[in-house]
Amino acid sequence: MIRVQCREGLAYERKVPSTKDHKQAPITMLSIASLRNCGRAALKSQSLLKLGPQRFASTLGSSLSKRQSDECDAVVIGGGAVGASIAYHLAKREVKDVVLLEKSELTAGSTWHAAGLATYFHPGINLKRIHWDSINLFNVLEAETGQDVGFHKPGSLRLATTPERVNEIYYHMSRHGWNKAPQWIVSPEEIKELCPIINIDSVLAGLYNPNDGHIDPYSLTQALAIGARQYGAEIYVNTPVTDLKQRPDKRWEVHTDQGMLVAKHIINAAGFYGRKIGQMVGLDLPLVAIHHQYCVTGSIPEFKDFKREIPVMRDLEGSYYFRQEKDALVVGPYEAPHKMVVCKDWYDKGVPPDFGKELFESDIDRIVDHYNIAMSRFPAFANADIQRLISGPITFAPENIPLIGPVSELRNYWNAVGFGYGIIHSGGAGRYLADWIVDGEPPYDLMETDGARFDSWATRDYLFDKVSESYGLNNMIMYPKEERPAGRPTSRVSGLYSSLSNHGAVYGFRSGWEVPNWFCLPGDVPGYIPSYKRTNWFGPVGRECNFVLNKAGLYDLSSYGKVTVKGKDAAKFISKVLANKLPEVGQVNVSHMITPKGRVYGEYEVLRLEEDNFFLTCGAAAEKHHLRWLIENSAEYDVEINNVTEEWNCLAISGPKSREILAKATGSSNFSEANFPNHTCQMVLINGVEVGAVAMSFTGQFGWEFYVRSSDMEALHNNLWEAGSEFDIGHVGSYALSNLRVKAGIRALGLEFSVNTNPIEAGLEKYIDFTKPFIGKEAVLAEKLKEASRQLVFLNVDTFDVDAEGNESIWVNDAVQGYTTSGGFDYEAKKGIAFAYLPPHLVKEAGQSLQVDLIGRKYNAKIVADPLHS
Ligand SMILES: Cc1cc2nc3c(=O)[nH]c(=O)nc-3n(C[C@H](O)[C@H](O)[C@H](O)COP(=O)(O)OP(=O)(O)OC[C@H]3O[C@@H](n4cnc5c(N)ncnc54)[C@H](O)[C@@H]3O)c2cc1C
Repeated sequence: MIRVQCREGLAYERKVPSTKDHKQAPITMLSIASLRNCGRAALKSQSLLKLGPQRFASTLGSSLSKRQSDECDAVVIGGGAVGASIAYHLAKREVKDVVLLEKSELTAGSTWHAAGLATYFHPGINLKRIHWDSINLFNVLEAETGQDVGFHKPGSLRLATTPERVNEIYYHMSRHGWNKAPQWIVSPEEIKELCPIINIDSVLAGLYNPNDGHIDPYSLTQALAIGARQYGAEIYVNTPVTDLKQRPDKRWEVHTDQGMLVAKHIINAAGFYGRKIGQMVGLDLPLVAIHHQYCVTGSIPEFKDFKREIPVMRDLEGSYYFRQEKDALVVGPYEAPHKMVVCKDWYDKGVPPDFGKELFESDIDRIVDHYNIAMSRFPAFANADIQRLISGPITFAPENIPLIGPVSELRNYWNAVGFGYGIIHSGGAGRYLADWIVDGEPPYDLMETDGARFDSWATRDYLFDKVSESYGLNNMIMYPKEERPAGRPTSRVSGLYSSLSNHGAVYGFRSGWEVPNWFCLPGDVPGYIPSYKRTNWFGPVGRECNFVLNKAGLYDLSSYGKVTVKGKDAAKFISKVLANKLPEVGQVNVSHMITPKGRVYGEYEVLRLEEDNFFLTCGAAAEKHHLRWLIENSAEYDVEINNVTEEWNCLAISGPKSREILAKATGSSNFSEANFPNHTCQMVLINGVEVGAVAMSFTGQFGWEFYVRSSDMEALHNNLWEAGSEFDIGHVGSYALSNLRVKAGIRALGLEFSVNTNPIEAGLEKYIDFTKPFIGKEAVLAEKLKEASRQLVFLNVDTFDVDAEGNESIWVNDAVQGYTTSGGFDYEAKKGIAFAYLPPHLVKEAGQSLQVDLIGRKYNAKIVADPLHS
């Protein structure tokens, strides 16, 4: 074991294997074996390649028409890696009557030609869990099913060839320590030892994941199918689903050309046909297929002397992956946005009905630049013959994150589509979805994969632009707070969009909305200067915090999700589905949705307008995610639930001068402490504009949210802006609001709490009314009696050039003991601040010294009183 000293004494423990440590890994056949060989010269002339029939000799299942019953619990539509995994996991969870219907043969979509890369690494914290579950499953599947899955684990290496890439590696390391999979930083010399055919000129470092590798997607799918059948699932190939109809009892008729099944649940795992399956149930899924190419070379002579397989290499600047396949290479580039091909025709006219076992015509011109870089990085590649060039369809959702889970509009319909990396995601995603279906709640937080994140604002043009950006910039450095421009703005702009632009708004993108991140005033550096540390927005954000803390700040909250709940049972329903006590009419509170297992599903600000009339608001990302929970739990209540997000905009004011500004703007005492106390709501007139006013703020200062029609935003804004000028009012963006929230100790969804946490450990007990029944109450009470395994604490962090943003490792005595959930800078106290989860024994130890790892450097921190509770 080596202890590598990184920046200023930060140690990451690791063991780097040498080529001498390992036996030759067993090699399996590449799953594209039936493709004909073709030399470099022949590449351009490849027409659509058809997969030979010998590859698909599968006879799983007999004809559906011979099935004894036409009823079942779940139908999985599609037999790719993802569908097979869902069937496997459902059956393993003892959903006994699981049927997988495959229109052609297993793997006959994107799966059969995938390059099979399988990594623990993922930049997203939540998605790491999916990868973890997949690889753990890949490790045991052969023993469980008897089917060799061709899983090779030579490790993987991400190369850093610029100083900023090195920062990126440190960034990933600082967010990785509390995760389970091993991951280390390695030197150029160690990279050379792991991959002797590399030219390490300009290589500065590498991110090494020793247990990563690649798997044979075909064998993997077969193993999952065998496992599914072992657990009782049935698989019918050559059985295309032709139509889907929901019965009044919410079960689904699944029509095929071999008869009909009636299923409680249906799961759309139809890959690039996923849109078509969605259309059968009235959904317009935001899915676009694109072309992805890789080549397979002839034999590489150097490999003959190697005792172990080289790691899967990712040359990020060249934007390609590079791996060994037997004694050859597989090299797959990510084409630039202007070169890559989007299947627009498929989107507009549908996928040709028989497409599945085909490939696209390949085009080496689109990838030759990447290959030139690869040839100088790996000279052995320059000397190799390219034997085959594979070009196949991958299905992308706009930001290349799949859609996994139910939809608000339909009961018992589940998405498992849009997998850009469906091989590595297959195992974890199948387990996640199966657990959700069986348990009725998501097993852990994966909100970023919730299909509810899209709506009609995600138009055809938006999808094409965003998909090109996501694929084309796949290996670009992703900076914290970076905003990518493609497809913006959508139709989701507030009535103040132009006028706040004129005031210097630098916009970010949240769930289709343009949200001011910060305001660039004369003298500020405009735009976003990429950095892992504080950058051009840091000073202006301090100025904006100062407005709210000492004067008044004006900010646009139009992106909030908004729902009305009305009807005879509205109060009963809200009281059951939300854990806080019911507000009185005219009052407002914050309340949480708890799952039956006692986890925090979400949070609403609850306005009680009338006895049985409620207005609920939540953060933009939660709009339809929360709405779905309301709808799912409303079956027994006489309520009408409506999403009114687009109907209402919201302008907010907060800070000590707010009351005076409102008095001046309205010429009345309507907003005095006596007339408008905190946590109440009223309809008011502000200069002729009718406004739903709510005395509530998440800044730690008092303030109001004003709900108005988009067309009234400008007049309201101008009125408050003019009235505020003598009080030095200023515009405030989301970065400042986030800082102020953390400073005030206010917890946020997806950060301090989520379905990963119970409300007790998250410090949300003060928002729970244990005297009434609510969903999840028993489980929360049980949590209260248990000894907590972790506790949310508030930290001051001695930072000077970078601040915590969440997910950073917390070190105590040279070991990682916890992680931050969000952070920022307290401009008033001039201190870094953060929330963090830590084991309770560390929280109890007075004077416990901690360190927070920020981009490879340890910053001293200490636990201080929680602002929310002190
Ligand atoms: C060249 C290339 C290389 C790739 N390399 C990698 C990689 O290294 N690692 C990685 O993780 N991912 C990789 N991918 C992506 C990966 O292949 C896909 O994400 C994955 O295969 C998707 O699996 P799936 O099960 O969702 O869809 P698919 O494999 O497309 O399966 C969908 C199935 O649904 C069936 N179906 C469709 N309509 C119906 C219907 N009406 N009724 C019944 N069945 C139906 C289809 O026949 C098909 O078998 C690569 C993709 C390409 C193109």
